Amino acid sequence: MDNNDRLKPFLIDYIQEITGKSKGRNQYICPFCNSGTGRNRTGAFTIYPETNTYTCFACGEKGDIFTIFAKMNNLDCRSDFPLIVEELEKNTIFCQLKSRHRI
Ligand SMILES: [Zn+2]
Repeated sequence: MDNNDRLKPFLIDYIQEITGKSKGRNQYICPFCNSGTGRNRTGAFTIYPETNTYTCFACGEKGDIFTIFAKMNNLDCRSDFPLIVEELEKNTIFCQLKSRHRI
């Protein structure tokens, strides 16, 4: 497994940390367009656990843990990639995940 691939399952924990628990089957409030906070509270932001990627059907945002972390922190996913990895490694949620999954 690629050294950075082990960070990818962290996506769900990270989303829960920033937007709260699931609004349905793998659906969350979108941190970009806030879909899921409306009248029917149906989150359009969907996480695919098989690939550890996300897509928001309301605003069209898609990517993985690296792209969302970059956007939330105003970083560039390519040029700031080493910094993103470093920051994710330091995140408390990731540390808990790491001990749980022994990665
Ligand atoms: Zn959205």
